Amino acid sequence: MNISELLAFDRAHIWHPYTSTLDPLPVFPVSRAEGVRIRLADGRELIDGMSSWWAAIHGYNHPVLNAAIEAQLHQMSHIMFGGLTHEPAVSLVSKLLPLLPPSMDKVFLADSGSVAVEVAMKMAIQYWQSRGKKAKYHFATIRSGYHGDTWHAMSVCDPVTGMHSLFRGALPIQYFLPQPSVRFHEAWDASAMHPLEELLQAHASDIAALILEPIVQGAGGMYFYSPQYLVEAARLCRAYDVLLIFDEIATGFGRTGKLFAWEWAQVEPDIMCVGKALTGGYMTLSAVATTQPIADWICAGEAGCFMHGPTFMGNPLACAVASASISLLLSYDWQGTIQRIEAQLQQELAPASCLPSVREVRVLGAIGVIEMREPVDMAKLQQRFVDAGIWVRPFGRLVYVMPPYVIRPDELSYLTSNLIKCL
Ligand SMILES: *Cc1c(COP(=O)(O)O)cnc(C)c1O
Repeated sequence: MNISELLAFDRAHIWHPYTSTLDPLPVFPVSRAEGVRIRLADGRELIDGMSSWWAAIHGYNHPVLNAAIEAQLHQMSHIMFGGLTHEPAVSLVSKLLPLLPPSMDKVFLADSGSVAVEVAMKMAIQYWQSRGKKAKYHFATIRSGYHGDTWHAMSVCDPVTGMHSLFRGALPIQYFLPQPSVRFHEAWDASAMHPLEELLQAHASDIAALILEPIVQGAGGMYFYSPQYLVEAARLCRAYDVLLIFDEIATGFGRTGKLFAWEWAQVEPDIMCVGKALTGGYMTLSAVATTQPIADWICAGEAGCFMHGPTFMGNPLACAVASASISLLLSYDWQGTIQRIEAQLQQELAPASCLPSVREVRVLGAIGVIEMREPVDMAKLQQRFVDAGIWVRPFGRLVYVMPPYVIRPDELSYLTSNLIKCL
């Protein structure tokens, strides 16, 4: 198939994320990716600013990750996890647990971020059932969050920018709190907790858990909020008998400058989800961790077990590459690297704040956000970025970069300078 045939077939038959089949947005065929470079089928090369949606932290086609997956492939690519286990899964979980909050003790391997969120929410509900509190099956969350596209995950996404109006009546009703009013670098203001406190006073008896993306709200708004919010939220959850779930699917593995974002507040959740960069962006895999007491309660209940078990649970290829990705991350000064990227993003994106179309520029860890005053014309801007040799995918009013950590200073400068030029 030549490029135009490929594009024609794609346009005729293949759905892309959030696109119309009536009027599909243009797509660019990729033939290869290596390091921070994406090569298009027509030979042009783009510097990647997206890490394939937070995932490819080590860049593409990494020799160490390739070797891990190849070695595992010759053992077995998959085997069912019911009644069987294997070294890749055990190795992965043994490397992951020491990186998670100390109270985390039991890990459930799931297929994707959204499924991890479903699993975490099911755990919370089964926990309260075992405790004899069957009315506790609603969830609380903050506005502008994003937790995935499956059913219950969707129910805790932002009700306005999410899909609530579309699926009204079919989605479970949850409790929405305002976005934390104190931003990451701002001085704490105790009134930020009033909405949560009022909600818990009134409804704790039917709330299973509060679910949050700690510190950084990702796809729902690229918003950075005060670590103190987590400290206070954890205190209130404990006081009112509500579990706390941290969705670290986007924030995990160094992206915010800490290995996981909970460390900014030193607050431990009851249940935690990781995904995206877990496999270094090679394959889909997620993990849900919880404490021993919560796991024990879940399994002491009516069902006698936790009721979930995907076909491809603990996929050995995915576990092997995840295990290699964690070792790779810990093998170098990742913290120094993120600090360097953060400083460079701060310096190089700052000039964008002078553009009349730009509302605000903000940077945290290896995340740089340019918030525009008006929503961008995605198709037009995307074409302009590609013509300038960079890969950045804006949405709404947000133009943002979160490059692979292996990006060199000169490559990052190329990315930021061309980004600003295009805007
Ligand atoms: C991407 C994301 C998810 C969903 O993960 P998928 O792998 O796309 O299902 C859930 N929560 C957060 C915070 C995310 O960024």
